[in-house]
Amino acid sequence: MTAGAALSASKDRMKLAAELVSRGATMLADPCPQDGGIQVRYRGKVYCITHDDLSMITKAATVSYDSVVAQMREVLLARLNETTAALGTEKDASKQEQLVSLAAKYFELLQKLPQK
Ligand SMILES: [Zn+2]
Repeated sequence: MTAGAALSASKDRMKLAAELVSRGATMLADPCPQDGGIQVRYRGKVYCITHDDLSMITKAATVSYDSVVAQMREVLLARLNETTAALGTEKDASKQEQLVSLAAKYFELLQKLPQK
């Protein structure tokens, strides 16, 4: 690892630590006993910003209802679009029936999602 990479890695860690603090984590006065890194307490657990993977913690914390709904809407729209396109070219009646029922399910699910 070059000095520059190490520097940007520690910058990233500071950014993640700051993000955790903005989510309610508290910085601890005592440094990490292993490497002297800054420690934060988040959701009842203590993390060292030097040796713990903070990106996993912030990643897990960003899984929110809103983000899942937004992703679901995207996926359903893409699938609905594909199914509709397939239906447009499908000649076989029984396959059309499958596609229509699939599209109906996607559409129903889309409508159940909270509207923005
Ligand atoms: Zn540590």
